[in-house]
Amino acid sequence: MSGRVKRKPEKLVEDDEVASPSPAPSGTPGGGAKGGKGKGGGPGGKRAHRSCEKSRCPEKTPLCSINAHDRCAGSGYTSRWYHLSSGEHYCNECFDYFYRSHRVGFEQVARWKREWSCTGKTEPNLRTFMVDQLLPYWLQCTKPDCGKWRSLPSGQEINTEAIRQFTCAVGRTADAGEGETANPCDVEEDIRVQKTLQPEWLETLLFPPLLKNSPAAPFLASYFPDGVGLSATCELVKKKPGERHSYSGTSNIPVTGVSPYFQPFYQPDEQGKAMCVRPDMMEHDEIQEFPEFTKEQQMYLALRNLVIALWSTSCKEFLTVEKCIHHLIVRGLIRIRCVQLLVPVIHFLSRKGLINTGLLRDPVGGSLLPPEFNQGPVVIIGAGPAGLAAARQLTNFGCQVTVLEARDRIGGRVWDDDSLGVCVAKGAQTVNGCINNPISLMCEQAGLKMKLIQDRCHLLEGDGQLIDASLDRRVDFHFNAMLDAIAEWRKDKTHTSDVALGRKLFEMHRIFMEETSLTFTPTENRLLQFHISNLEYACGCNLSKVSSLHWDQNETFAQFAGDHTLLPDGYSAIFSQLAEGLDIRLGQAVVSVDYSSKTTVVTTSDGKEYKAAKVLVTVPLAILQQGLIDFHPPLPVNKQKALQTLGAGTSEKIGMRFPRSFWAKKTAGADYFGHTPSVEDRRGYFSVFYDMTPNSKESHVLMTVLSGDAVEKTKDLTDEQIIADCMECLRGLFPEEDVPEPTSYFVTHWSKDPYAQMAYSYVKTSGHGEDYDTMAMDVSRTVFFAGEATNRHFPQSVTGAYLSGVREATKIVSC
Ligand SMILES: Cc1cc2nc3c(=O)[nH]c(=O)nc-3n(C[C@H](O)[C@H](O)[C@H](O)COP(=O)(O)OP(=O)(O)OC[C@H]3O[C@@H](n4cnc5c(N)ncnc54)[C@H](O)[C@@H]3O)c2cc1C
Ligand SMILES: [Zn+2]
Ligand SMILES: [Zn+2]
Ligand SMILES: [Zn+2]
Repeated sequence: MSGRVKRKPEKLVEDDEVASPSPAPSGTPGGGAKGGKGKGGGPGGKRAHRSCEKSRCPEKTPLCSINAHDRCAGSGYTSRWYHLSSGEHYCNECFDYFYRSHRVGFEQVARWKREWSCTGKTEPNLRTFMVDQLLPYWLQCTKPDCGKWRSLPSGQEINTEAIRQFTCAVGRTADAGEGETANPCDVEEDIRVQKTLQPEWLETLLFPPLLKNSPAAPFLASYFPDGVGLSATCELVKKKPGERHSYSGTSNIPVTGVSPYFQPFYQPDEQGKAMCVRPDMMEHDEIQEFPEFTKEQQMYLALRNLVIALWSTSCKEFLTVEKCIHHLIVRGLIRIRCVQLLVPVIHFLSRKGLINTGLLRDPVGGSLLPPEFNQGPVVIIGAGPAGLAAARQLTNFGCQVTVLEARDRIGGRVWDDDSLGVCVAKGAQTVNGCINNPISLMCEQAGLKMKLIQDRCHLLEGDGQLIDASLDRRVDFHFNAMLDAIAEWRKDKTHTSDVALGRKLFEMHRIFMEETSLTFTPTENRLLQFHISNLEYACGCNLSKVSSLHWDQNETFAQFAGDHTLLPDGYSAIFSQLAEGLDIRLGQAVVSVDYSSKTTVVTTSDGKEYKAAKVLVTVPLAILQQGLIDFHPPLPVNKQKALQTLGAGTSEKIGMRFPRSFWAKKTAGADYFGHTPSVEDRRGYFSVFYDMTPNSKESHVLMTVLSGDAVEKTKDLTDEQIIADCMECLRGLFPEEDVPEPTSYFVTHWSKDPYAQMAYSYVKTSGHGEDYDTMAMDVSRTVFFAGEATNRHFPQSVTGAYLSGVREATKIVSC
């Protein structure tokens, strides 16, 4: 963490502020003439040069890069060279010009020092001044067939536009010699450019890049700029004297023009937020990919932060190397090296799915990655969120992808219904935690709305009486306290054998009752049942099957923070766009995957064969559990075991349209209302009703769910029977109303759906979070697995399924 405590810079140079060695002897070259050309030799070429004394600096004939005044030694003799990199030095005369208090430059440095210390972490010294203020900028000619690097005069400023339009004609043509050359592009490039591109050049570099006006600056206002690769004096990070880092707490500072759901960088005190990077520290996989920056990370961080920030500000188009270069404003030869590094950084972040992802398609040249990442044809089984995510990513990576989908539609457990006049999802519709969520990104890209779900929920008794909010809060508190007590209990690692969550909850409740000598009223008991039913909806089954040790194992990882929202246009609006242009074959139910030879053969129920180098399986857990796809050779034993120790949860949804909102008066326009079950046996029957169109005058639609045992108990009932049961429940809740029959409705049957047979996974008693990881493991680097039940960190959700597809796409091109 680049904390707020001011500390010594990690990499300090030798002390500048020492008296320079004795002045250059009279009669030596260097005094007088400006520029340095044609000077290097004294009379008769003797006493020509002094080499740089910095250890490991190969420069025998340094050149002054600062050229601050007319006594500059240029490429001639000076009594001491000050080293910045093997191609960048400044002479003792230029040093003197800024160091001696009677010289003009002294005040300029003093002003800069004041500015720097307002914001910077490192002590301002003369060398930093040279790097930050005077080293020339190096720009690349944008003329086709040229691309030569040229330096600008020391001290000259640049901006995005100047970079975009730069040609050799604008650059310093002094290199050409005295005579005018017809074509400035014909002038040879400075030999330092090629030297800068050599790997060993970095070792001679004294300072990491200090980016000016980086698009990352507004995101990183709470950090010391020079701790995250930024210059402490650039406009975007400037603070007034006396004004220091204003940041306190963990909330992000909003960045103008950027969605509040885009918070790609941790703030100094923050942790535990999904899809967030530390701006001042490389992640494990970054170190693996760029080991040369393990010790001195600043250069990598400066570029990575710039790229991620730029992506956050303009996610509707691909982020190219060119675009990043236009925003790369840094003095010195390091800029050449930064441009070189941008290419692999952008490839790496794209491959990881951190940038250039979501709904974007058709990258320039057909691929975001170089051809060596193409591993041959890929067949993806299943066109749900996981399959579509992987297909989109791989296609953008330049792979040939075919998606085989058993149904006659895409989306899988994302399936929206518009028959009630508004979009009501039969499967997923909410986003739990919008910050940095890829779903938020895709909504932004597609211009789709996300509707905040309010916390407010009225609770009714089965006979329609409103339950006192304080009573509700008390039981809610008690319920959460029991879950906390279970979390405490399992911290004791001696509990090796698992117990069902339902049993453990009951036990905790009993102990609490005994210890406090309290008794629950019948209403409180029913409220407890209501909370259990909510948890059963979240798990997709009766708590008697769920692991008390690991049911919430994902909570140990950083989760998505922020608002919980509902997608008014449904998830389909996103996934239909994600699928555009992909090769998806509908009605292709896969029955076998033969990976016994080099080419894998995927066979469908109608006997069609698809050949591939790699296969990605994204079918629901229940399909794999039942062996509906035959793998040859069979899947490894550990995977088969993990398959069975995870549970395939179920829940069903019911949507109903009414002629009027008979509930609205009592529930005061809330987004949803719940009710307590009259008896334990009725737990899980329609426990919450969601108003899909609160406060609407035209549309009156409710959605409710069946969860826990209620799913199994209603499995063989007709839709009419289920609706009749639901209406009886509603009439009980609103006895004062003349409750009308629904004008239309739907009831889902996920548990009987041949290509789902479940809603979402859970950890069974004796199961473990690691089972998700085992599910995600590839087999022989040929058969890969994605889907909600392969995502240990974000199981059960569309987000998790989507990210598992992105993860596997990364894996497929990387192995
Ligand atoms: C009622 C319900 C409510 C939910 N609510 C939410 C919510 O609000 N928010 C949320 O984030 N998540 C929710 N979920 C979970 C979410 O829908 C899933 O986690 C997510 O859709 C899983 O995506 P997937 O790609 O892993 O699998 P799927 O979406 O199931 O996709 C798998 C695909 O494989 C296909 N397939 C199956 N067998 C074969 C075969 N043999 N050959 C070829 N293709 C085959 C299927 O047809 C399907 O298209 C809900 C789920 C349900 C059922
Ligand atoms: Zn000089
Ligand atoms: Zn040197
Ligand atoms: Zn040129």
